[in-house]
Amino acid sequence: MTIRTAQQYLDSLKDDRDVWIEGERVADVTSDPRFAGAAQTMADLLQMQHDPELSDLLTYPSPTTGERVGKTHLQPRSRDDLVARSEAIKAWMDATCGMLGRSPDYKNVLVSSWAAAADAFTRPKFDGAANMRAYHEYVRDNDLVMTHVLVNPQVDRSKPAHLEASDVTSQIVEETDAGIVIRGARMVATLGALANELVVMPAASRWATNDTLDTTAFSFGFAIPIATPGLRLICRPPVAHLDARSAMDHPLSLRYDESDSMVIFDNVLVPWERVFIHRDPDFDSLVYRETYTLHALLLQSVIRAASKAEFMMALALSIARSTKIDQHVPVQVMLAETISIADFARTCRVAAEAEAQETPFGTWVPNIRPLQTWQTMFWKMYARQCEIIQTLGAGGFVAVPSYAEVAGDMAGDVERYFQSANADANSRVRLMRLAFDAALSSFAGRQKLYEQYYTGDPMRTQAMLFSMFPKDPHLERIQAMLDDLEARQSPAGSPAGFRMAGE
Ligand SMILES: Cc1cc2nc3c(=O)[nH]c(=O)nc-3n(C[C@H](O)[C@H](O)[C@H](O)COP(=O)(O)OP(=O)(O)OC[C@H]3O[C@@H](n4cnc5c(N)ncnc54)[C@H](O)[C@@H]3O)c2cc1C
Repeated sequence: MTIRTAQQYLDSLKDDRDVWIEGERVADVTSDPRFAGAAQTMADLLQMQHDPELSDLLTYPSPTTGERVGKTHLQPRSRDDLVARSEAIKAWMDATCGMLGRSPDYKNVLVSSWAAAADAFTRPKFDGAANMRAYHEYVRDNDLVMTHVLVNPQVDRSKPAHLEASDVTSQIVEETDAGIVIRGARMVATLGALANELVVMPAASRWATNDTLDTTAFSFGFAIPIATPGLRLICRPPVAHLDARSAMDHPLSLRYDESDSMVIFDNVLVPWERVFIHRDPDFDSLVYRETYTLHALLLQSVIRAASKAEFMMALALSIARSTKIDQHVPVQVMLAETISIADFARTCRVAAEAEAQETPFGTWVPNIRPLQTWQTMFWKMYARQCEIIQTLGAGGFVAVPSYAEVAGDMAGDVERYFQSANADANSRVRLMRLAFDAALSSFAGRQKLYEQYYTGDPMRTQAMLFSMFPKDPHLERIQAMLDDLEARQSPAGSPAGFRMAGE
């Protein structure tokens, strides 16, 4: 009932989970090379909590057991609490260059936020409040790793995704004394293969609609262990080059390919005590906003993004320094741009925390506006950071050999011909391989896609921002200014206070 060690986490994944990849069932995700790198990275994050020097930063006493538990489960009761939780997130994100989208803190902050606002789950048709509180305590005190799956599969998007009512879409097919039975599919479970628990909730962003379709069978929220009978994950192929001669050639993808999967519910029984929402479509569209969970989700996201953007900035600076192109003004302009992108993410966090507020539930949440600003802009900025690295590295990316060549038969040639003004051959080769993995590889492509979509389709989230933004004062300001200008016009049409020449 406390923080787990790396080994305890890895052992917990050997639970006969039904995970498929490249046409075969995975016997053990901790030893299968397609998952083992990311599994070890997750294990290392949990192990960090045991480091005596990091203990205060990463853990706190459980309010129920008094044992040390992960700080990212904390329900902030002050601005200081909020910032302390953010610092714990930042420590994990810096350790993984912000490349692990589904590190445990992501779901920890969401579930703790729902649990802090559990009263909102007391609805006329179903009361999920006690279940949500108990679940938060359970995952916190057992240090369980969660992921979530929110979106209906892409079958026919002529209707908004949350209104897709086909056989493919996951739905309630039966209620029994023991619980609800779910059949169908959901996408996408990042980290599903390496999580202990799957949280299934409504999609966070959705198109506004007046549709009157009965979607009660498609309305639910619950959490179950990944190894639940009938739950199956079908994963995309790995983006890491598993046959690389040197791990230094793909240093990020071999550690951070966290996997993504379609989730199949093959008549899965969800016990009533794990159900949070039941046949309540009206609540589906409110469950993030009414509980302030979107605030928590976006704050974790902006902290992760700051670590990632700082890492990409450092890479760009290193490449430019290695061949001295940082002496040229156009290169300096690009470096200033990537510096500013890193600072943009950081300042959005700072602004959101500085303007934090207490909720009616007694918890503290960041101001959501700087976070929505980040959400609107960052995915494009991140793609630009990749483009800047690509532009600075240029032909160097394809001229540089595998790191294995540094110690191979051609070592003499490599040492002589791959040095650059500010880096010996070894430093240059390993830097360019790292930068290639970050900005140009299939891993890099998946990272860009992740930034674009993981908090929801930007078209939808931006349309939501537009609809929520208080526009009237701004519209009125322009009208007032025009009215004022018009009133100042002289009868002849010249600006008031000025005489036209010859008058
Ligand atoms: C790498 C990655 C990891 C992810 N991980 C997770 C995860 O762990 N958990 C999870 O729940 N989800 C995850 N997602 C899914 C993510 O939430 C969705 O991709 C996102 O919500 C967009 O939905 P969609 O992919 O179904 O796109 P679609 O809804 O199919 O949209 C595709 C395109 O069509 C456009 N479009 C669709 N409908 C309309 C319309 N009515 N009007 C105008 N344009 C429209 C969209 O703007 C978009 O450009 C992940 C996605 C990615 C890429």
